[in-house]
Amino acid sequence: MDPQAVRRDFPGLTPGLIYLDNAATTQRPRQVLETLTAFYERSNANIHRSPHALGRAATEMYEQAHAGVARFIGARSAREIVFLRNTTEALNLVAVSLCRPGPLSFRPGDQVIITIMEHHSDFVPWQALCGQAGLGLRIIGLREHGVLDLQELSSALGPRTRLVCCTHVSNVLGTINPVAEIAAMVHRAGALLCVDAAQSVPCMPVNVQALGCDFLAFSGHKMLAPFGTGVLYGREELLLQMSPFLFGGDMIETVTETGSTWNSLPWKFEAGTPDVAAGIALGGATDRRTGSRLVGAIDYLKALGMDSVREHETVLLDLLVKGLNRIAGVNVVGPDDCAQRASAVSFSIDGVDPFVAAQLLDNEGICVRAGGHCAYPLAARLGVVGTVRASPYIYNTADEVEKFLDVVRDIVKNRLP
Ligand code: PMP
Repeated sequence: MDPQAVRRDFPGLTPGLIYLDNAATTQRPRQVLETLTAFYERSNANIHRSPHALGRAATEMYEQAHAGVARFIGARSAREIVFLRNTTEALNLVAVSLCRPGPLSFRPGDQVIITIMEHHSDFVPWQALCGQAGLGLRIIGLREHGVLDLQELSSALGPRTRLVCCTHVSNVLGTINPVAEIAAMVHRAGALLCVDAAQSVPCMPVNVQALGCDFLAFSGHKMLAPFGTGVLYGREELLLQMSPFLFGGDMIETVTETGSTWNSLPWKFEAGTPDVAAGIALGGATDRRTGSRLVGAIDYLKALGMDSVREHETVLLDLLVKGLNRIAGVNVVGPDDCAQRASAVSFSIDGVDPFVAAQLLDNEGICVRAGGHCAYPLAARLGVVGTVRASPYIYNTADEVEKFLDVVRDIVKNRLP
């Protein structure tokens, strides 16, 4: 993979800008932006409602986009792919639905297990709902170097455990959790596994069947697609038994004055008019009017090859982690071994506020994130107020990483407050 060639597809990467905030959101390639325009110019209509040719075309393209995402993550069918706004909405769907009445629903006294690595989107819904529903909530901690304590998980699993929620890749520590191993443990205990894959699907091959998870959530905007795109994968037999999340148009089969029945999958979970254009710009489709391909973000990533995406990331991560570890006064959190970590590299600088460091980097045209990264309980356990986070992606180069390290060295040398 040639990052210089990749860069030419990204109009947002203007000269002098070093964009290392990809764990927050990525830049978008021209091809994906063109898909948005092409849809609005040639195929714009609502889906599943309008009987005219334009409406049928939009519907078919939106359904193709679901099928594309299903293939991308190895789901058995597009019925297992729900398009939502983001990872947060996908994880809330699981939590809210399982707390509502239904064959799969939790009963008071059941237990949900999460980990201390979870992003607020996989932490706060459980904290809020477990109290209301009378569920026990257990939080699994870490071993050294920000690795999940699987021993603790193993001993926490019990007969009342119904669901384990675990991030695939920590957005703070960068740790890659051994999801297939965790799935086997969780299933042996008779529970289900929900995986937050917001930081893994964008940067490594992910196959839901190989992982053996029951649910998996991710956001399109962290993998070249427009804002407002998120996906929940759920095993079909589970989704079939679950209560809807939102109620309204398109999610129903019949409605009378006395009651309603629900639409087939995945539409049961897609109430109201979705962002059709953005969904197509995530999953890709064939333009019904011209026969040309409307490139989705996953088409773009597939053309690069997810193995190559991961390989490129590993080279940059290695430079980044080793480079930062060599600077006295800089403390990287998470694993040192790049085989065990992905995208996000968070660090603190002794005596320097992370927001000040981010501002000084920004003054040199380098975009990074600073703060608690929506994982405050983790920051508290690590004993840090916040960190600076650099997260490279497909278009970043070794030269950019070197420039970033030079500026960090300058910050340390000058010990700016
Ligand atoms: N989980 C993880 C691991 C994340 O990194 C993020 C985004 N920072 C989210 C969930 C939430 O994603 P979104 O804001 O797109 O809902």
